[in-house]
Amino acid sequence: MKKGEDVEMPASYEDKYALCPYYHTNENRKIKCDGVEEMASMHSIFKSDAAKKEYMKKYCCRDWKKCRYARMMNAMWEEKL
Ligand code: SF4
Repeated sequence: MKKGEDVEMPASYEDKYALCPYYHTNENRKIKCDGVEEMASMHSIFKSDAAKKEYMKKYCCRDWKKCRYARMMNAMWEEKL
């Protein structure tokens, strides 16, 4: 990369550390993930930004396989195979 070139920065700390393959992005109280159809996405809206961040730390950035949404998506993909 040359000096002065734009560096693509993650939008947030959570964007940088999210491990879940279904993760899209997050903003305010929302987490956006893959939807059940290719042309759709799923939004989870939390009661507060702090609650969302806590959820992301616990699941999206760590034990994503224990997240109920991720489990649902995994089951859906297994069903499609
Ligand atoms: S862990 Fe759950 S909420 Fe987080 S990105 Fe994955 S499916 Fe979405």
